[in-house]
Amino acid sequence: MICNFKFGALFDVLKITKLKILSFMNKFYITTSIAYANAAPHIGFAMEVCQADALARYHRMKGDDVFFLSGTDENGIKIKKTAEEKKIGTQEFVDEISAKFQLLLNTLNVSNNDFIRTTDKNKHWTAAQKLWQKLAEAGDIYKSEYEGYYCVGCEAYLTEKDLVNGECPNHRKPPEKIREENYFFKLSKYSDKIKDEIESGRLEILPESRRNEILNIIKGGLKDVSFSRPKNVLDWGVPVPGDNSQTMYVWCDALTNYISALGYGESEVHALARNGKEDSYRLKPELQTSKQSTKNFQKYWPADVHIIGKDILRFHAAIWPAMLMSAELSLPKKIFVHGFITSGGQKMSKSLGNVVDPFEVADKYSVDALRYYLLKEIPSGGDGDFSFGRFEKVYQADLANGLGNLTARVLALAKISTFHFSISNHFPVSNFQTTINGVWEKYEDTLNNFKLNETLNIIWKFIGVCDEYVEKEKPWGLEGDRKREVVFNLLESLRQIAWMIRPFMPEASDKIFKQLFTDEENRKKEMNKNLDEARQWGKAEFINVKKGESLFMRL
Ligand SMILES: [Zn+2]
Repeated sequence: MICNFKFGALFDVLKITKLKILSFMNKFYITTSIAYANAAPHIGFAMEVCQADALARYHRMKGDDVFFLSGTDENGIKIKKTAEEKKIGTQEFVDEISAKFQLLLNTLNVSNNDFIRTTDKNKHWTAAQKLWQKLAEAGDIYKSEYEGYYCVGCEAYLTEKDLVNGECPNHRKPPEKIREENYFFKLSKYSDKIKDEIESGRLEILPESRRNEILNIIKGGLKDVSFSRPKNVLDWGVPVPGDNSQTMYVWCDALTNYISALGYGESEVHALARNGKEDSYRLKPELQTSKQSTKNFQKYWPADVHIIGKDILRFHAAIWPAMLMSAELSLPKKIFVHGFITSGGQKMSKSLGNVVDPFEVADKYSVDALRYYLLKEIPSGGDGDFSFGRFEKVYQADLANGLGNLTARVLALAKISTFHFSISNHFPVSNFQTTINGVWEKYEDTLNNFKLNETLNIIWKFIGVCDEYVEKEKPWGLEGDRKREVVFNLLESLRQIAWMIRPFMPEASDKIFKQLFTDEENRKKEMNKNLDEARQWGKAEFINVKKGESLFMRL
């Protein structure tokens, strides 16, 4: 018995040390799409940033070096026209909208490391222009005449196939018939290579249904794409390098954000400044940071995962990889595609009056409650629905009566038990230890496969197990060691639950830790743990636990 235990412990130590060494150097670069700065943020984007945030926080917990990027796409004719309608300057307009998106990220406790704006001339334009030049040098950009349809509302070229009764199906308006000189990108050249990358799994598209969807599109053959527009029709965007009469169309402008934020192309600014007149050159602070951020490109690229909506799959899984191949840059490792959120079963629209405002929901029910709903009730990678009726049901059942109630119960029990629960308590190996190891395994497995809703289901099942345990053991009626054991098991389970929910509901997690570890030093020691340490059963010391404010107010 004793021997077995020792070998087991030794094996654990070896395993943990190995994991630590392996995870020490892991970098994890995660991005959301950049939101189109044409209107205030909607709940779909709130879900996307919450998904990305949960993954970023999970990877930080594992000890990875995480870089998490979000941002706004601020160029294009539609934006200029909206600003004109509102009678404000275009820059002023995008500043305002971009600030709203940044406020949303702050409000939702999103832990992004950077926020890129495509109107950022220093950081973004230099990168977009450098990438364009690389594609041109590779012989993949050519000038040609475009003749066809263009919908201003979509900001997209449409083909005959896209039209319904001669109209754009999204805007119910006939598109403009245009004929103009544009630059084109040789996307067709990369069809087979992209197909190969996706089929081999080197570029992973999740979920599977989206992978099949894009493979079918690619098998149908990719056509070259229009890569610029004449400046007289599009004058709010990045100028095409070496041709003042043309402005970049969305592809080379928007998709480049994923590398511009890392400082791709900024070394050129540095070099330009250095090659300028000696006396005009100063090592300006922004150049020092650009030197720093070029390092970020070397360190973090390629992206470990791009999180995007299903409507922009083709751009990210076909055009973007082709651009990167042409520039001889590495491809992202994964693209995770989420679905759309309906409101009460219907598409959200102003005219139906069913648009859900994420700020309003967060303000009314708490940020964590909104995060929980978006991550648990909307299936990761699928479509889902938001309704206030459903929201309140979930809130009551899972948060107020579920996690909130268990926390209050366990802390009240521990408080009246007035034991000092510490590592010196030698309790027998409990079933909880075995159960919770299984929970952690599923936890990691589902998170690594981007099934965030399943991860939350697993945690809540375990919360149910704890509730049943309380009902079965009735610790308030127990005495002595048995009572200590039961209460300790519950405290320890609650501590591990606080770690499990941390990527999803950082505030609730903090609140639990503050109640479990009232002593600041002791809490710091706990918070400094990495995931491998946090998972170990029975290593925490609970002194003077305190039942604090409710995690979730009852409705
Ligand atoms: Zn349209």
